[in-house]
Amino acid sequence: MHSGDITSPADRLRLLQDEYLTPRAGHRAERTATTTEPSTPIRLAVFDHIRASVTEAVETVVANREGNTAPTQPPNDPRLVYRWMVEETADLDASRQQVIDSLMYRQGLQHAIVMGDTDIIRRHPCPSCVTWGLVWDDDREQVVCPNRYCADDYGQPTTWTLAQIAEDHIARKNHRAARAT
Ligand SMILES: [Zn+2]
Repeated sequence: MHSGDITSPADRLRLLQDEYLTPRAGHRAERTATTTEPSTPIRLAVFDHIRASVTEAVETVVANREGNTAPTQPPNDPRLVYRWMVEETADLDASRQQVIDSLMYRQGLQHAIVMGDTDIIRRHPCPSCVTWGLVWDDDREQVVCPNRYCADDYGQPTTWTLAQIAEDHIARKNHRAARAT
């Protein structure tokens, strides 16, 4: 399965956990070196990535519930963390919901990139010039706008963080939803 077939952050995290981190049932990692099975260094990187994502998700819920009732215990299974996140923040106001939605969307982009699916970035318009076809710069870990008219006075292309792309995406989505009602 290609990560591009999957759209939700939760599904991507599940794919990471099940296909990239855990050797398939019946396979022995040290013996079977099939092309579909990620190597040990990749698994460690994926493990760290999943752990960091879950920690950030839990901390964000706790921070955004400040002044409200405390959240319930987060799930031990990382694959359930987004469902928990949505449930634990359903009663928060719109601006905090937007923070939560943006974080989940941004983590979804990160999961896709970890799986090598950097094309996911192309499906977003530049938040400034609204040109499609943004490019992921792997070395600098930032998003680059290919539109030269969007570049600054010195010709340096406009760049974005994944968080900015996610915030812009969620803001547009909420704007469309508001117009539709
Ligand atoms: Zn641009």
